[in-house]
Amino acid sequence: MSLDHDTAGTAGPDQDAPAPAHGAGAPHPGGSARARRDLAVRAAVDQGVLGPGTPVAGLLDVTGIRASAAALTAAFAAVTPPGTPVLHAFAVKATPLVPVLRLLHDAGIGAEVASPGELALARAAGVPPRRTVLDSPAKTPAELREALALGIAVNADNLQELARLDALVRSAPTASPLGVRVNPQVGGGSIGALSTATATSKFGVPLRDEGARDRLVQAFLDRPWLTRLHAHSGSQGMPLDLLVQGVEAAYELAEEINARAGRRQVDTVDIGGGLPVNFGSDEERPTHAQYARLLKERVPGLLDGRYGLVTEFGRSLLAKHGVLLARVEYVKQAGGRGVAVTHAGVQSATRTVYAPGSWPLRIVAYDAAGRPKQGPATGQDIAGPACFAGDLLATDRPLPPLAPGDLVAALDTGAYYFAHHYSYNSLPRPAVHGYAVAADGTVRFSRVRAAQTTAEIVAEAGGAVPDALRGL
Ligand SMILES: *Cc1c(COP(=O)(O)O)cnc(C)c1O
Repeated sequence: MSLDHDTAGTAGPDQDAPAPAHGAGAPHPGGSARARRDLAVRAAVDQGVLGPGTPVAGLLDVTGIRASAAALTAAFAAVTPPGTPVLHAFAVKATPLVPVLRLLHDAGIGAEVASPGELALARAAGVPPRRTVLDSPAKTPAELREALALGIAVNADNLQELARLDALVRSAPTASPLGVRVNPQVGGGSIGALSTATATSKFGVPLRDEGARDRLVQAFLDRPWLTRLHAHSGSQGMPLDLLVQGVEAAYELAEEINARAGRRQVDTVDIGGGLPVNFGSDEERPTHAQYARLLKERVPGLLDGRYGLVTEFGRSLLAKHGVLLARVEYVKQAGGRGVAVTHAGVQSATRTVYAPGSWPLRIVAYDAAGRPKQGPATGQDIAGPACFAGDLLATDRPLPPLAPGDLVAALDTGAYYFAHHYSYNSLPRPAVHGYAVAADGTVRFSRVRAAQTTAEIVAEAGGAVPDALRGL
C-alpha cells in the first residue's frame, strides 16, 4: 500500500464531500473534514489543548463521526425492505473510549465487544444488552455466564464453546441470541495479521475443512436455540470481493441449515466489519453505501427481508475522524536527511512504526500557531520520542521544512491509534479531545480522556509496593 504523496503536504484540492449545510447563506467554515481539521489544530494551540507541557494529543471530529454513523445506517436501509432488523454494532476495539461509544449509541449504533473490559466500556456508555454483541475466540465460562445473564448476543467461536453454552442454556433461561462464527476460508488480504478467513485462521469454525460443515449443520439441528451465523473475514487490506465472498458463504450455510431444519432456524446473519479505509487522501472510499450495494447485487437473498442483519464495522466508522497532533521538539540533519523529533511515535502509532509498509499515515505540517505550514517540500523523517532507532512515524516524507515548536498531524488515526497504547519508555497515554466547529468558525473542545499522569505510570508499575521483591 502506498500513499498519495500529492496530499501529504498542505497543498492539493480538498476532496471532501461537503458536510450537511447549516441552513442557507454563507458556507459553513467547517464544511469539509479538512476545513474542520485545520480550524481545530489552530484552536488547539489557541486554547492550550496542545502546548509546551502537553506536546501530544488526539483529536476527534465529532461532526465527522456522526456523519459516518448516519451514512452507515442509510447505506443498509437503502438495500433492505422497511422493517428489516439491522443492528450496526461498532467494534469497540477500534476506539475503546466511553464518550465515543455513547456518541455512536446516540446515533443508533450498538457495540461489538470481545473482552470483559470492552463489555464494561459499552455498559458504561449506556449501550443496552440488546444492542451489544460478544465475540472473542477465548471466552471463559464466567464471561459466557455473564453475557447470557445480561441477554447479550453471543457468537460462539467453535464447537467446544457450544458445549459450554449447552450447559448454560440448560441451567437458566436466557434472552441472548446465540450464534456461531464461521471461517469461510475465502483467503487473506494484503495484511496477514488482519486476515481472518485464511485456511488456518484461528477464528471460527473452518467451513471448508473435511467434515466441518456437516458437523456444524448437525450442531444447529441439535440446538434449536442456535439462530445466528457470524462471519468476519478480515479488516484493512481485504479486497471487497473477498469480504463479499465471506458473507455469501455464511448466507449459503444459513439457507442450508434452514432447509435441513425445515424452518427458519437461522434468522440473523452477522456479517462482521472489515471495510477497508483509504489512508492515502481525504476521500472516504470505499463507502458503506458501495459495500451495501455490492452485497445487494451479489447476495440478494440475504437482504430481501428474510434475515435480520448485524454489522461490526470499526475502522471504517472512526479512522477518518481522528488526528494525532504532536509538537516538534527538535530538528536535525543526519546523513543528509532532515529529521524532526516529535512526541508522536511508537506509543500511539505502534502498528505504523513496526509495520510502516502496511500502515502508512499521511502527515500534515502546521506552524507553531497551528496554521498550515508553507514552504518548499523536502524529504524529512518524522521521528517519535522513544529510545529506539525505528521509532519513525514517516520516512523521507516531502513536507515544508520543520522547526522546533511546529506541529505535525498524523491523519486518519481515529481508529486503532487512540486504542492500544504501548507504554515503551513509560511514555504516557496522550489525552483525547473531541471537537466541533460552530457556524462562526469557533471550535469547541471536550475532553474524552485525560493524559496519563506520571503518578499513574508509577502506580501501574508497582509504585505502591517498592519492597515487593526484597523479602524473597
Ligand atoms: C476487529 C473486528 C471487527 C472490526 O473490524 P474493522 O476492520 O475495524 O471494521 C469486527 N468484528 C470482529 C469479530 C473483529 O474482530
